[in-house]
Amino acid sequence: METIVGIDLGTTNSEISLLEDGKPKVITIDGDPIMPSCVGIDKSGKLIVGKAAKNQIISDPESTVLSIKRKMGEHIRVRLGNKEFSPEEISSFILLELKKHAERYLGKTIEKAVITVPAYFDDRQRKATKDAGLLAGLDVVRIINEPTAAALAYDAGHIENHKLLVYDLGGGTFDVSLVVVENGVVEVKASHGDTKLGGDDFDQLLINHIIQDFKTRHGIDLNEDLRARRRLLVSAEKAKRELSDHPFARIREEYLYKDLHLDIEISRSNYEEMIRPLLQKTLNCIQMCLKDASILPREIDKIILVGGATRTPLVHEIIKSEIGIEPHYEISPDLIVSMGAAIQGGVIAGYKTHSILVDITPYTFGTSAIGEYDGQTHLDVFVPIIKRNTPLPVSKGEVFYTVADNQEEVDVNIYQGEEPLAEDNIFIGNFLVKGLSKVPGGNEIVLNLELDINGILKVTAIEKCTGLSKVVTMDTKNIKTHLDIAAAQKNIASFLTDEAEDEEAEVSDAHFEIVEGEETEKQPLLMKAKDLRKRAEKLLNSIGQEDAQEIRDLLDKSRDAVNAGDTKRLSEINTSLEDMIFYLED
Ligand code: AMP
Repeated sequence: METIVGIDLGTTNSEISLLEDGKPKVITIDGDPIMPSCVGIDKSGKLIVGKAAKNQIISDPESTVLSIKRKMGEHIRVRLGNKEFSPEEISSFILLELKKHAERYLGKTIEKAVITVPAYFDDRQRKATKDAGLLAGLDVVRIINEPTAAALAYDAGHIENHKLLVYDLGGGTFDVSLVVVENGVVEVKASHGDTKLGGDDFDQLLINHIIQDFKTRHGIDLNEDLRARRRLLVSAEKAKRELSDHPFARIREEYLYKDLHLDIEISRSNYEEMIRPLLQKTLNCIQMCLKDASILPREIDKIILVGGATRTPLVHEIIKSEIGIEPHYEISPDLIVSMGAAIQGGVIAGYKTHSILVDITPYTFGTSAIGEYDGQTHLDVFVPIIKRNTPLPVSKGEVFYTVADNQEEVDVNIYQGEEPLAEDNIFIGNFLVKGLSKVPGGNEIVLNLELDINGILKVTAIEKCTGLSKVVTMDTKNIKTHLDIAAAQKNIASFLTDEAEDEEAEVSDAHFEIVEGEETEKQPLLMKAKDLRKRAEKLLNSIGQEDAQEIRDLLDKSRDAVNAGDTKRLSEINTSLEDMIFYLED
C-alpha cells in the first residue's frame, strides 16, 4: 500500500509521521522528532532549515525566517538573504526538509501527504498550505483541522462513543474544539480561539517582571537595551520551561548591562500569578466553544492537551477546576497532531482503523442581498447559507427574489465570514446568471451551496420557474490566489541552482553582487547597510515614536559613514540597525 505521510506544519515547530504496523510513527530529524519551523541562509548562501536555521537567529536574524505560518495566504514577499520569497515558498522549504527525512527513513520517494491547519484557517490559508505542499513535490490529498487530527490520534484504538475537548495552546496561538466521536465517526462540533495568545506571551510577562526587578535594583531600564532584551528572550523561555517541572527557576546573565549582572530567582507561584489572567481568557474560549456546540461541561468525557505550552502545570489545574475532569496528556502534546494526520493518511491509503473522519467548516458561507441592517434597508447584507461548524460534506439552499420587473440577470456574490454586511467578509467569487425570464419582480432564484470535505465550494443558481441554471465550482484549486505556482517553482529552482553554484565556486559572501570599481571588501558592508536602511525605513510608520527616532538617527549615521567612507563606523551602525530591526520586525 502507498505511504501517505501526516504533517503538522506548525508556527513554531513542525513534525512528520507515517503509519507503521497500524500505528503512527513520528520521524526524527537529526535525532529529534520536533523540527523548528525555521528557514535560513547560512554564511555561504546555503539554504538551512530547522535547528540549524534556529541556531543562527540571534547571530544572523536577517538571514532567518520564523513563524511563516502566520503569513500564509498573504500577498507578501519575505526577505531571506538577498532574495525574496512568498510564504508558500518558505513553507515549501520546511515541507521539503520533512519529506527528505521521511524518505530517508523509508528508503523510497514520498508523493502524498495529509497536512493539518488550525480550525480558524480560511480558504486562502488552506489553499496556500496546499500550494506549499505542491512546491515541495507533495500531492496534499487532504487538509485537516489540527483538533480533528489530535482527536483522531487519541481515538485510534478507542471505539466507545465520547465527547472530547481539544485544548491547543502553542507558542503564538490558542484554540479549543469540541470533538464528538460516535460509532467511530469523528466530528468537530465547534471551535473557538485567540490567534494572539500563546506561550510566547508568558515569556513576555517574565521578561517584564525581570526588567522591572532590574530597574528597582539598579535604576537601569533594560527596555532601552536591545541586546539585553534579546538575551532575556532566550533565558526567560528557558526559565518558563524549568518552572513547568520545578518550583523555582534561576536566571543568570553575566554583564547583561555594562558591568551589571542579572541573578534572579522566580517561583512557580509567582509566575503562575503573572499568567493566570491569560489562562482565564482560554477558559472564556472554552465556554464559548461549549455554547456553540450546545454541550454542558459535565457532558465532556475527555480533555486532550495539544501544544508545547500545555506542559504548564497551571493549565492542567485551571482546566480541571473549570470542567471537573483531569486533562489527558498521554500522547505528547507536540506530536499528537502529526500522528493524527498520519492516521488520516493511512485511512486514505486504505488501512483499516476505527475512525472515519468527519470535519466541519469553521466559517460561514453565504451571499449578499438587499436586507435589513441596523433597522434600515441595506443593499449588501450578508445572508449565511452554510453556517460555521456544519459537518462536511454539506449542501444547503436558499431562495432569493429578483427585484426589478423583466430582470434578465442576477449577479451572485459568494462570501465567507460572520459579519452582518457582505463587504466585511471575505469575497470568494461571483458569477452572472443571464437569460432570466421576462417576468415581474419576485422571480425565484434558488441558490445552492455545496461544500466538500476539502472545503471546495460548488455554487448553483437556478431560476425556479424554468430550471435555467448556472453552476460554478469555487474549487480551492481555482480560487484566485496571488500565488503563481509556475513563477514560484522557478524562483525556488533558481535559488537552489544559485546555491549549488555558490557551493561549487566556494566563494564566501557570494550573494553580494560585486560592482566593478568597488573595493571588494567594502562591497558586502555597503550592500548590507543599504539593505538594513531599506528594511528600517519600512518600519518607521508602524512603530512607536521613540523607536522611530532611534531608527532615524541610525539612518542618518549610516549615510554619514558611507559618505565618509568610514567602514569601521558603518559596521558598528549596521549592528545597531540590525538589533533594532530584529526586535521590531514582525
Ligand atoms: P508549539 O507551538 O506547540 O510548538 O509550542 C511552543 C510553545 O510551547 C513555546 O512557547 C514554548 O516555550 C512552549 N513550551 C515548550 N515546552 C514547554 C514546557 N515544558 N513548559 C512550558 N512551555 C513550554
